[in-house]
Amino acid sequence: MLTNENSVPAPERVTLSFENTEIAFRHASNADLQRAYWLFKAINNNFLVKVGPGMTNFAIKMGLPIKGLIKATIFKQFCGGETIAECDNTIKNLHSGGVGTILDYSVEGEEDEKVFDHTRDEIIRTIERATGDPAVPITVFKVTGVGRFGLLEKLDTGASLTAAEIEEWQKVQARVLDICQKAFQVGVPVMIDAEESWIQITLDKLALDMMQRFNQYKCIVYNTYQIYRHDKLADLKQDFEKATAKGFILGAKLVRGAYMEKERKRAQEMGYPSPIQPDKQSADRDYNEATRFCVRNIERIAIVAGTHNEDSCRFLADLMNELNVPHNHPHVYFSQLLGMSDNLSFNLANAGYNVVKYVPYGPVKAVLPYLFRRAQENTAIAGQMSRELGLIIKEKQRRKI
Ligand SMILES: Cc1cc2nc3c(=O)[nH]c(=O)nc-3n(C[C@H](O)[C@H](O)[C@H](O)COP(=O)(O)OP(=O)(O)OC[C@H]3O[C@@H](n4cnc5c(N)ncnc54)[C@H](O)[C@@H]3O)c2cc1C
Repeated sequence: MLTNENSVPAPERVTLSFENTEIAFRHASNADLQRAYWLFKAINNNFLVKVGPGMTNFAIKMGLPIKGLIKATIFKQFCGGETIAECDNTIKNLHSGGVGTILDYSVEGEEDEKVFDHTRDEIIRTIERATGDPAVPITVFKVTGVGRFGLLEKLDTGASLTAAEIEEWQKVQARVLDICQKAFQVGVPVMIDAEESWIQITLDKLALDMMQRFNQYKCIVYNTYQIYRHDKLADLKQDFEKATAKGFILGAKLVRGAYMEKERKRAQEMGYPSPIQPDKQSADRDYNEATRFCVRNIERIAIVAGTHNEDSCRFLADLMNELNVPHNHPHVYFSQLLGMSDNLSFNLANAGYNVVKYVPYGPVKAVLPYLFRRAQENTAIAGQMSRELGLIIKEKQRRKI
């Protein structure tokens, strides 16, 4: 059943402030806050973040016992645990602040058929974990977790596949279908992450196909639109036309995009025009425009705003008020990553909006690349302390600890 705006009771309207650190850190004990403080202080140090990954990889290769140290520090800040069961505390903790969990199996790198099958099974387990639990309202996966990058890249070029590749591709499609089918059977939405532009045509086709199959009455499958690409706002609008013509609900996770440097470098090296917007302002303008387009069509588009940008969150919240969309409309979710931007997540949840956080999990060694990227994002920018550290200091002062 499509949810009608009128059938969703509007919650009491609470004024939205992203500066309220008491709400942002209500779920964190003093000890949690101190740990986060020392961690972000260390991360703020550019030098440490530059040498850290090399040192950590070396220590792990040498068999030094540093897993415990990583698990108690940076892993604890940004990951839920090594297994789904280990994420239970994080799930409860977030839920106590009105924030949902997206279990994100974050193992990167290995590419063989056994690993792909195992990843498919694990993603299906996240869907089973989410079934019937409002604390885990949405799930997610990456197609490169269940299929070989090189194969997806070849498909993107339109080149014809060998007989063996055709068979391999059928297996990838079957894994994606298994995941989406499971999501459909139990009524738990699943998002497909966006990745590098040179495999994205294939991912988009797959996602659109899954949406057409499973989004007839409720949004089960979401594709991801990377608005740092200059062509993605147009793609979003075009997909909506297709969805309208074929009678399915479009699921759209809106993000700016995570691979900017890599995209620009490849385009330059290979001599094709960069798919990235000319500047940040253009990305911000299109992000707002994409948000506006979705909210204006909210009965037929379900949106997940995956962003740590305060202005983008406020823009969406204001637009919902302006267009009289209830804060808890099932077609609107705000989404951030665990351990970051709690001031956005918990203040939005406190004001009655739907909020979900990615909770990455997996063996410590396998999630290290993810952790290094989070550290990189939180280094000092031109001598300024990172925003996360600033917020933690503010809350420490408020608590007088
Ligand atoms: C819940 C969630 C899910 C996500 N899922 C995905 C995903 O599936 N795929 C994916 O690729 N990323 C994903 N991301 C990451 C996301 O794309 C961004 O990299 C990250 O969130 C930073 O953007 P922002 O909107 O939070 O913040 P901001 O700080 O406002 O924006 C930074 C981003 O702006 C863009 N940008 C910066 N400078 C320029 C420039 N000069 N020109 C053009 N663009 C510029 C880049 O994308 C950069 O990452 C996700 C993020 C979240 C929070």
